[in-house]
Amino acid sequence: MQGKTGDKCVSSGSYHCHQHTGNHKTFNQGDIFPKCDFGGAATHDTTWVEDAPPTT
Ligand SMILES: [Zn+2]
Repeated sequence: MQGKTGDKCVSSGSYHCHQHTGNHKTFNQGDIFPKCDFGGAATHDTTWVEDAPPTT
């Protein structure tokens, strides 16, 4: 799944910012998606995209 900043997470798992694919965070069901804080103080609204499950 994916969710925007301010949305409620409905599927626990590891997510990444769609603009910063190296910024991985783990969210649990019921968490509110935060802003992305990639790069330190600067934050931005974003869409969090669930990481693909391992294929092995
Ligand atoms: Zn970002």
